[in-house]
Amino acid sequence: MQGLMMDMPLLVSSLLQHAERHYPEVEIVSRRVEGDIHRYTWRDCAHRAAQMAHALSQAGVKQGDRVATLAWNGYRHMETYYAVGGMGGVIHTINPRLHPEQIAWIVNHAEDSFLAFDLTFLPIIEGIAAHCPNVKGWIAMCDRTHMPAASKVANLLCYEDLLAGKPTAFDWPQIDERSAVALCYTSGTTGNPKGALYSHRSTVLHAYASALPDAMGCSTRDSILPVVPMFHVNAWGLPYIGALVGAKLVFPGAALDGKSLYELFESEKVTYSAGVPTVWLGLLQYVGSNNLKFSTFKRTVIGGSACPPAMIKAFREQYGVDVIHAWGMTEMSPLGTISRLMSKHVDLPEAEQMNVYAKQGKALFGVDMKITGDDGQDLPWDGKTYGDLLVRGPWVVKSYFKGEGGDPLRTDAQGRSWFPTGDVATIDGDGYMQITDRSKDVIKSGGEWISSIDLENLAIAHPAVAQAAVIGIAHPKWDERPLLVVVKKPGANVTREELIAFYEGKIAKWWTPDDVQFVEAIPLGATGKMLKTRLREQFKDYTLPGV
Ligand code: ADP
Repeated sequence: MQGLMMDMPLLVSSLLQHAERHYPEVEIVSRRVEGDIHRYTWRDCAHRAAQMAHALSQAGVKQGDRVATLAWNGYRHMETYYAVGGMGGVIHTINPRLHPEQIAWIVNHAEDSFLAFDLTFLPIIEGIAAHCPNVKGWIAMCDRTHMPAASKVANLLCYEDLLAGKPTAFDWPQIDERSAVALCYTSGTTGNPKGALYSHRSTVLHAYASALPDAMGCSTRDSILPVVPMFHVNAWGLPYIGALVGAKLVFPGAALDGKSLYELFESEKVTYSAGVPTVWLGLLQYVGSNNLKFSTFKRTVIGGSACPPAMIKAFREQYGVDVIHAWGMTEMSPLGTISRLMSKHVDLPEAEQMNVYAKQGKALFGVDMKITGDDGQDLPWDGKTYGDLLVRGPWVVKSYFKGEGGDPLRTDAQGRSWFPTGDVATIDGDGYMQITDRSKDVIKSGGEWISSIDLENLAIAHPAVAQAAVIGIAHPKWDERPLLVVVKKPGANVTREELIAFYEGKIAKWWTPDDVQFVEAIPLGATGKMLKTRLREQFKDYTLPGV
């Protein structure tokens, strides 16, 4: 027997309509690449998204067509999200930090019909335009007065000209909720980038689940500043979550340095933020060295790579900011787990609560996860046994765009399909998952595994250490041994011996790194994560002491 409830598709256009109707006056504030601060409301956003949708329809964009963006976090970027997705197109966000050749490859692979870009990226567009024959128009996200005077790009269009005079309402089509709405390529640290193609349904369900109090916990009373870029898995869903809850959104544009961010946090009374650990280094350093405090900032989501407990502690103890540690991946829209306290943790001493905060956390409703051994058998949830982490759920990919990379799923004995995350993890009795490592970063020593994340987290707690990465170095007897690579804090001094001694008593002795190397910088990937592949390359001729 079927239920007798209405069959309304879950569409991203309904998120925008909801925000327009119920939170019309709530603001969206953006630092523009033109240099000034722009402010308007959800109502304005909905009007302009409609205008953009009219412009794109007139330009021939049809349902299923891909429209790309190469842009910072800003209001025009968000209008493009809703315009393209709402009209049944696919918004394809591209990471501008990728190499131009990779960008051209992705544009061609996705067969993007138009590409909208922030002026900052004009040089990239000039470099790739001739190599991207499918793109019918390159849309500069600015007004006529800011348009580049002369450019070698043919079919250069002006964003504001496209919108001018168009109707401010659009009859958003009621398409199948399983239709594609957004496309995001993984950074391709191994092989070619692969596209995760989100549907309306997966996007709306992900937004519902992420907004819950024990997930990201967003509200209309929040002023949310996503530092995580809209080209990095849709800023972890915040443009959609913002509309769902009617939050104020604050977009930092291109100015991601500590000073600019701090000013925006204060002037826009930001309560909530989100970003990868490396972006917070600059902000915390700026705030610390200028003896500043945050007046309104209360919570931040940190994920994308392991958040060191030292960072969680600094945020909590020095600034009164709760860190919400989250784990996910492009293939998961991205949110998978999030670490919040349960009732039984509330009265625990801070040090014990820290053990909870440091974990990657419990699965959101909608994400099923498990760990398995080499034989594919399920492993116990005892907080100690580690294995391959597998997930399934309505916002997890089942295959990549155009079938790239073949079938990624594994089928279990019950015939259920699981996505292997490539991460190694433990899960404790309460269901808190903790990442040991990416399977390719784990250090294999004497047949046992050493977690590079654990060693990095300990090193970063040393007052002289700004950044730390641990990689495995080939060893004739042990297979691999850990090498600690460190960037010192400005003006700080510390020796190899002091850092090695710092591990004493904190970990099993055989986990202690064999050596320490000091470097000026650790290579970061396009999403701000430490690029261990590059680091391993850098140290490929290095030999450990005594070998
Ligand atoms: P890529 O970095 O390959 O582009 P993603 O941005 O999707 O892809 O990154 C997903 C990966 O990032 C996860 O599989 C995991 O290894 C790592 N990751 C994400 N969040 C965390 C976290 N909180 N702790 C540890 N690792 C994390």
